[in-house]
Amino acid sequence: MRSGRRDFGRDRAAMVAMQLRDRGIHDERVLGAMGAIPREAFVEAQDRSFAYADEALPIEAGQTISQPYMVARMTELLDVQPGERILEIGTGSGYQAAVLAKLGARVTSIERQAELVPPARARLRDLGLGDLVEVRVADGSLGDPGGAPWDGIIVTAAAPSIPAGLRDQLADGGHLVIPVGPRARQILMDVTRHGEEWSERPDGACVFVPLIGAGGFGG
Ligand code: SAH
Repeated sequence: MRSGRRDFGRDRAAMVAMQLRDRGIHDERVLGAMGAIPREAFVEAQDRSFAYADEALPIEAGQTISQPYMVARMTELLDVQPGERILEIGTGSGYQAAVLAKLGARVTSIERQAELVPPARARLRDLGLGDLVEVRVADGSLGDPGGAPWDGIIVTAAAPSIPAGLRDQLADGGHLVIPVGPRARQILMDVTRHGEEWSERPDGACVFVPLIGAGGFGG
């Protein structure tokens, strides 16, 4: 299929309407951010014509860019306010970080696959979001205690259980959004801090690539 002449703006608007709004994403700011970030810039060249398909797509290093609905739902659960400091674990393509930055968040995003980081940084810079997102190469499976408290933490890879320490790194009232479960299938968990107590709410099934490291699989 030819992708060069494709009208990505129209594809993006249709994605927001049918995959997000019609399926229950209500937060207008999230819908606006998803309608503004060009997902075609975050997928591999040969997949551009599928950039707004209702699915995750492969990126370098055997990883994936999440399905648009999942990005929107996780962002909605995080309840990001402008100026908040958000920790993302699993930069991948940089798309989720771009959506968070578009909402005015200051994002620290950690990625363990070094080869993914230069292209992610370049995409964010080209969109004028480079100053809002710091991308770092590390094992982020135990979070980043040095930067805590975080106003929100989003883990975009599957963890066998909630990694030790992530709850403690949340600011009061903050959300930790994380897929938890075995490698094949997980439940998206929304953990909210209330002082020294944490509530946990399951938000449905999902499938993510594994979080690899000390707090994840094979640590
Ligand atoms: N948020 C990404 C999708 C990420 S896919 C996007 O919008 O495109 C999950 C990513 O988590 C992969 O790139 C994988 O390499 C990374 N990852 C897995 N374990 C990790 C760890 N311990 N620390 C940081 N990143 C990790």
